[in-house]
Amino acid sequence: MSLPRLEELEAEMQKCFRCSLCKMVPLPTVLNPKYADGCPSSHLYHFHGYSGSGKNIMALSLVNGRIQVDQSLADITFACTACGLCDVSCKFITEAERHAVNIALREHIVDEGFALPAHRSMIKNLQEHGNPEGRSEDPRPGWIKDMGVKILPDQKAPVLLFTGCIQCDPGATYVARKCASLLKRAGVDFGITLENNLSCGLPAYWTGHRDIFVNIANRLVVSSMTWGSRRSLQYPDHVWELYDQSIRSMPRRPRPRSCISLNSWRS
Ligand code: SF4
Ligand code: SF4
Repeated sequence: MSLPRLEELEAEMQKCFRCSLCKMVPLPTVLNPKYADGCPSSHLYHFHGYSGSGKNIMALSLVNGRIQVDQSLADITFACTACGLCDVSCKFITEAERHAVNIALREHIVDEGFALPAHRSMIKNLQEHGNPEGRSEDPRPGWIKDMGVKILPDQKAPVLLFTGCIQCDPGATYVARKCASLLKRAGVDFGITLENNLSCGLPAYWTGHRDIFVNIANRLVVSSMTWGSRRSLQYPDHVWELYDQSIRSMPRRPRPRSCISLNSWRS
């Protein structure tokens, strides 16, 4: 149930005193006021409700029974990119968990039946095709062409390079190809998987579909173990960092023993 999770965060919501610093990049880092504006949704819509503070205040009103979930609340909440800037900026002045409230609010809105139609169809794609766009074609001819990369589990390798659904996106496969080239040049014995066009499930997390995210993440971890890649699981960093951060807050942590991002491995 999502309401108790929101209720647990009430103390965090109460810490907001509406200074609006969460709409800007952290002030000590501002070199030019022209670039101080930081929150995309409040920049676009101008009303306070679209800021990190606004969502905390609306969440507090929900928890205290002053408002109910409705379409307006869903539209305002999901206008936010969940970039986390408000959480970072607010932490410059107080110990508060803005991002946690934001995500818990999303989950409660979804539980109450107000998920956005576009998110619903993306979730359907994730469940049916393993990727948010609903691609079903075999990505094999694309990004690994001429690379001689091992394919798990048919071939064995101690390191799995997990590229998620990036490998199904023709516009982004160059990222996966670069990661693979880097590992090859470093002499790492690694392989990839093309199984089920697996997504890491983050789109479910960002859109408030917690159970679906946890299921996908669990499935991924269990699969990675059966693929024989016991030593490490590596993601392109921008995916892994978010994934790692997200699952750390989950009660059941679907984390293999040695998952690291490509960047951590390099350092
Ligand atoms: S969320 Fe933090 S930075 Fe934003 S208004 Fe509230 S106290 Fe200020
Ligand atoms: S997470 Fe949402 S509210 Fe916070 S800064 Fe980003 S867009 Fe704005």
